[in-house]
Amino acid sequence: MESDAKFLEVLRQHWGYTSFRSIQLDIIRSIASGHDTLGLMPTGGGKSLTFQVPALAGEGMCLVVTPLIALMKDQVAHLRQHGIMAAAIYSGLTPEEVQRTLDNAVFGAYKLLYVSPERLSSELFRSKVQRMGVSFVTVDEAHCISQWGYDFRPAYLEIAQLRTLLPNAPVLALTATATPAVCDDICRQLQFREDAQRFRMSFERKNLSYVVRRSDDKQGELLHILQSVQGSAIVYVRSRQSTREVARLLEAEGISALYYHAGLSNLDKDTRQRMWQEGRSRVMVATNAFGMGIDKPDVRLVVHLDAPDSPEAYFQEAGRAGRDGQRAWAVLLWNKGDVKKLHRRVPDNFPDREYICRVYDALAYFLELPMGEGQDCTFELSLERFCQAFKFFPVPCVSALQLLSRAGYIDFREEEQSRSRLMFLVGRDELYRLHGLGREADGLINALLRTYGGMFSEYVYIDEQVVGEQCGLSRESVYQLLKALTHQRILHYVPRKSIPRVTYVTRRIESRHLIIGPEVYEDRRKQFVERLERMERYGETDDVCRSRYFLEYFGDASAHDCGHCDVCIARARRRLRPEDVAPRLLSLFTEGAALSTSQLRLPGVPTDVAAEALRLLVGEEKVVFRHGLYSLPS
Ligand code: ADP
Ligand code: MG
Repeated sequence: MESDAKFLEVLRQHWGYTSFRSIQLDIIRSIASGHDTLGLMPTGGGKSLTFQVPALAGEGMCLVVTPLIALMKDQVAHLRQHGIMAAAIYSGLTPEEVQRTLDNAVFGAYKLLYVSPERLSSELFRSKVQRMGVSFVTVDEAHCISQWGYDFRPAYLEIAQLRTLLPNAPVLALTATATPAVCDDICRQLQFREDAQRFRMSFERKNLSYVVRRSDDKQGELLHILQSVQGSAIVYVRSRQSTREVARLLEAEGISALYYHAGLSNLDKDTRQRMWQEGRSRVMVATNAFGMGIDKPDVRLVVHLDAPDSPEAYFQEAGRAGRDGQRAWAVLLWNKGDVKKLHRRVPDNFPDREYICRVYDALAYFLELPMGEGQDCTFELSLERFCQAFKFFPVPCVSALQLLSRAGYIDFREEEQSRSRLMFLVGRDELYRLHGLGREADGLINALLRTYGGMFSEYVYIDEQVVGEQCGLSRESVYQLLKALTHQRILHYVPRKSIPRVTYVTRRIESRHLIIGPEVYEDRRKQFVERLERMERYGETDDVCRSRYFLEYFGDASAHDCGHCDVCIARARRRLRPEDVAPRLLSLFTEGAALSTSQLRLPGVPTDVAAEALRLLVGEEKVVFRHGLYSLPS
């Protein structure tokens, strides 16, 4: 087809790839010809190109809704490197920056505009989007729109509004994790038209071997595994504290390891991720905060010391191994205690109503908000201090805040980014008189003075990346230098960090009047428990092929036994009979050769079966045993 040639040309020109993978071209054709389209591809399958290529090949601009700011920034930077006009709008930009980007979009400056779902409801955005010449809308991580998905984000529901604003733009929904029920829900929520098309790539990972290993000494088992499998690895644990402990244990055993969790500073996270990505450290021990957006092809091993909450999450995390197509392993360490541990997560995620009401009251008390007030007010919330003040455990407390959000009383955002800011503590004259700060510090100060104004009298927002580019330093060096200058009392630097925020959507009411409906509580609790149980069954079962187990869960009709997970291997072993092995052993002998038992090994054949086969051969006098060696009869 003519347009196929165009798509290929775009692919070659901008990415240097020579062909499309799997269902990429089907998806591209479908969306480019105006059909609402659902594309299901596993992580790493290549979803991005399915909207980037048609965006470039066609007229107008593609609007991309995606939930993660970090990923958004990465993709935009990446596209720009390839000479593609793209931009992103997310929280953390100044109002002027947002305005400018929107105006540029209306002006036709971009082929791709990335927005976070929260943006869609803003009046400013809505007033401009109709004039942007949107050719089609892409919804990445589309499972986030489904209440039945394992990662529902309420803001995703806003996307449906786009259909009214942009009645002619078809919608492309992409996801890596969707059970059949979630797929249907995505199409319904996005109001897919009659002629919508669905494409599913097989979720089978041929080079990935799933293994469940039962062990009461998980750390010992982990060491053993890391000593027998070479190459880069990720180890997932539940708690932040365990990331540190396990990394330390590995280091003590001479295995280079780093740890990672959501509580680290952004800079720490970036640095560690980079060190691991570049292979300077072999193992990353992490909570589930680690993963989104990592694109390391040669991960050989993913080990879970604790099971995740759902098969979706496990499949996603385990799937980070073996992106390069080489053999890789996904190991879940499991023991009797895990069933109980999994079920203990239910009250953590769904604390009882009385507790939720208590958190609601405590919150207002903490924020000093009188009854009847607070509507549309936003507060920063130090979770740590809040929990301390009222003796709440953090996990159920956050769950309660999230449930209150879903019920529509508050809007709780755990991961809102603040921006870095800075003010000089010495005057301009004094600054020029200071010597011996070093060449780099001088360069940095000059870059700051050139880029921003007003820093002598007030705190000014800065961007370490931008300043770094001005003076030829990495963001990390800028950060370190600013910390040092703060220490020397030349300036005061407040690095950006995540601070949770709460907005009251309705005025404060009496907690006994709170309504937490079944769609917020019971229904979702039930779903949560079902997923836990599916995860539990994965750990407990030893007679269903691991790969098949996942594929059937995801509704992949082509599911078959993989042949290389622990279940398949054990089954193959059980099936091996000595009389079948005997002829293969016999073929190892040549005239006059005398072989020891250690030379008489066959791959995949356990030693006891091989020994039995040898006994058979000797019994039948096809082989003779003399002075501890075997040979053909002369
Ligand atoms: P997903 O979003 O499905 O997880 P990505 O879109 O991030 O996956 O793509 C994963 C990797 O595969 C990227 O490095 C991308 O450049 C590469 N890739 C995608 N499509 C192709 C292709 N047709 N040929 C070669 N590489 C591709
Ligand atoms: Mg993606």
